[in-house]
Amino acid sequence: MLELAGPPVAETVYQELKAQLAQLPFVPHLRVVRLGEDPASVAYVRLKDRQARKLGLLSQVDVFPETLSQEALLHHIAQLNADPGVDGILVQSPVPQHIDFNAVLEAIDPRKDVDGLTPTNAGRLWMGLEALESCTPAGVMRLLAHYQIPLAGKEVVIVGRSNLVGKPLAAMMLRAHATVTLAHSRTQNLVEVCRRADILVAAVGKPGLITPEMVRPGAVVVDVGINRVGQNEKGRDILVGDVAPEVAQVASALTPVPGGVGPMTVAMLLRNTVWAAMRRRGVTQPQPMVR
Ligand code: NAD
Repeated sequence: MLELAGPPVAETVYQELKAQLAQLPFVPHLRVVRLGEDPASVAYVRLKDRQARKLGLLSQVDVFPETLSQEALLHHIAQLNADPGVDGILVQSPVPQHIDFNAVLEAIDPRKDVDGLTPTNAGRLWMGLEALESCTPAGVMRLLAHYQIPLAGKEVVIVGRSNLVGKPLAAMMLRAHATVTLAHSRTQNLVEVCRRADILVAAVGKPGLITPEMVRPGAVVVDVGINRVGQNEKGRDILVGDVAPEVAQVASALTPVPGGVGPMTVAMLLRNTVWAAMRRRGVTQPQPMVR
């Protein structure tokens, strides 16, 4: 079984981005907005900020209390939109319950939408137009391309239909000429549906959901899920995906958790930030986005 490790692929993306950055007369600037102290969000935001700085970008995290009003958040986004020095804006989800995340996304200038989640960018992706693309699915595509997993004409089953992962991944798989099935919580006969897949993607958030009987022998399995199932003796979170460990005996290739899709998500965020900066600041020949 081939392990589809993320870190070496993320590293090739960073090397490509470094070469692009060296040519630019400016330093792209990423702003991440976080509300409250949800431990997973704190960890993700820290990772994004660290990687951005390591790559040589300007990065700032704006932290607000969980009680920040929707109006105040929208006002802050409007300020970031209007600031010519800011290239990328990301509001870390999940947001507190009183915040309407869709309204937040609609408020972000699509040219600065480095998470690729605004209706403009999501719609452009589905239309086959150039867009800032959602980071996790873009990371899955880059990972599969790196390991030379063929997609054209293949049966791809994606379990999970969120705006963050499942839906944009379906659009990207279609663009790659796969035959796509989007399965979800109401899908009947999930076992049979999954067994059709040449490439099976799990993006649900349920440990052990994908069992060996759901995987056709020799299929490629991508595990997007990240689930905290406890802490080790050092107090660190124990993370597992959506795919049961026994699937490794059936699949021909599998992404590990951690160390699979996760590192690719951050790499694609920084790719989007560099690209958004080039585009908005009028670099005359924006190089094609690193895919
Ligand atoms: P979500 O909760 O928004 O969506 C989950 C989806 O799973 C829904 O579409 C739902 O219909 C489907 N679902 C729920 N129960 C199901 C079942 N029993 N059978 C089939 N489908 C079912 O979640 P999300 O934001 O898309 O995230 C999914 C997982 O991916 C989570 O574990 C999340 O932590 C992880 N994630 C990882 C990365 C990464 O970088 N690796 C990035 C984003 C999300």
